[in-house]
Amino acid sequence: MTGAPSADSRVFPRYADFAYPSIAGGRGVWLETVDGRRILDACSGGVMTAGLGYGVEAIPDSAFGYMGDIAYMYNHFFTNRPAEQLARRLVEVAAPEMGRVRFVTGGSEANETALRIARQYHVDRGQPERWRVISPAQAYHGATMGTLALTGRPALQEPFAPYLARHHHLPPATPRFDPTGRAALDALDEILDRVGPETVSAFFCEPVSAASLPAYSPPDLFWEGLAERRDRHGFLICFDEVVTGMGRTGSWFAYQGLPIVPDLVAAGKMMGAGYAPLAAVLCREEIYQAIAAGSEDLDLGHTWDGAPLVCAVGMAVLDFILEHGLVNRVEQLGPGLAQELEAAVGGLSITGEVRGRGFLLGVEYVDPRDGSSIPPDEWNLARMITETALENDLLVNSSHPNRDGWAGDQTLLAPAFTASRAELTEMIERFAAVAAAVDAHVRRMPAGGG
Ligand code: PMP
Repeated sequence: MTGAPSADSRVFPRYADFAYPSIAGGRGVWLETVDGRRILDACSGGVMTAGLGYGVEAIPDSAFGYMGDIAYMYNHFFTNRPAEQLARRLVEVAAPEMGRVRFVTGGSEANETALRIARQYHVDRGQPERWRVISPAQAYHGATMGTLALTGRPALQEPFAPYLARHHHLPPATPRFDPTGRAALDALDEILDRVGPETVSAFFCEPVSAASLPAYSPPDLFWEGLAERRDRHGFLICFDEVVTGMGRTGSWFAYQGLPIVPDLVAAGKMMGAGYAPLAAVLCREEIYQAIAAGSEDLDLGHTWDGAPLVCAVGMAVLDFILEHGLVNRVEQLGPGLAQELEAAVGGLSITGEVRGRGFLLGVEYVDPRDGSSIPPDEWNLARMITETALENDLLVNSSHPNRDGWAGDQTLLAPAFTASRAELTEMIERFAAVAAAVDAHVRRMPAGGG
């Protein structure tokens, strides 16, 4: 990024080479900085979280009602009304295929808890040899050592590799590597044969990818083949729906639009929608029953897991989504939004694929010199796009996975479910202007960018 944080700041910043603007407030999809800039947020708080928009007073008002008289209690000793209500509502309304909900406070924790539940399930059923995890390489599942090991992205894992378990990864079934999904299934079979299917605990993936491959999902052939191999070999399927859960792709969970039902699902960001740090693992009842009848104990957890305050916010968010029909709204407006985005940037020489599922939209860039390969790493198109956007008062999120070799720079748009049609169009228009400016800049660089 550019600049440096304020010299008198005592915050340990994410980037030491970025002059962070300071945020003062927000209303709907508009942010205001302390120096009076108005920024249009096309990515729900920058990271697909504040999906109801900012300043929705109904959330604290209603959360206060659900919370009753107590904000905090540790889940070792008591259950509480908001946690019970929220778990029940989630399995009744959002994920009827699941039976139990274990609350945590962030997406990484949710994925790590899913790993632990899968492992405990096998141990309690007398199969302690099952521990390995297989997952697609081009993914992001979190910043803890357990979840960082689940991706196959060396650039992301450096310099922490010594701490990471060695799992097994598939090439992503993208049009670039594997348009039908057949190669990914063959790779899965090869890994299962090599390590022994009886040692595999889980297959872990995003059913629809977020920042790592925005709005991408493998072809049905892959999902159907994966479900068949689960039945044959007895491993569990864990879906990371930290981003896609709670309506982002136009159904409560993305798996509901696919020909497969997972055994465990991690949800996060939209559960608290930026009003509280809330996440969860949902699992099929049978998984819980195996542990309840086995060790009777899914030990380890986090201080705020299932506390009344965060679960009360979760109830308020769920109510708001239901009252305003937001999942339907995302489902209905999503396809048009993807078409608008394609029409706006599809013709640029840096644009490769434009993808969209609900309010999760992605643009993958290519090297304009051949129109297909991953752009050179040193261009850092992701950074150019993000910075140019912010300079033009638009917040988007871009990723730069070039060095991992599976995908090039990409931009993710994930607007709030409540954004008006006019605001959605403005997001796309502003983004198109940014992408066109970067496209022109790259083409002006010597040798078409080189
Ligand atoms: N999984 C996915 C798909 C994510 O996008 C993220 C966060 N961006 C995580 C997991 C980790 O969630 P958290 O940052 O809340 O730990």
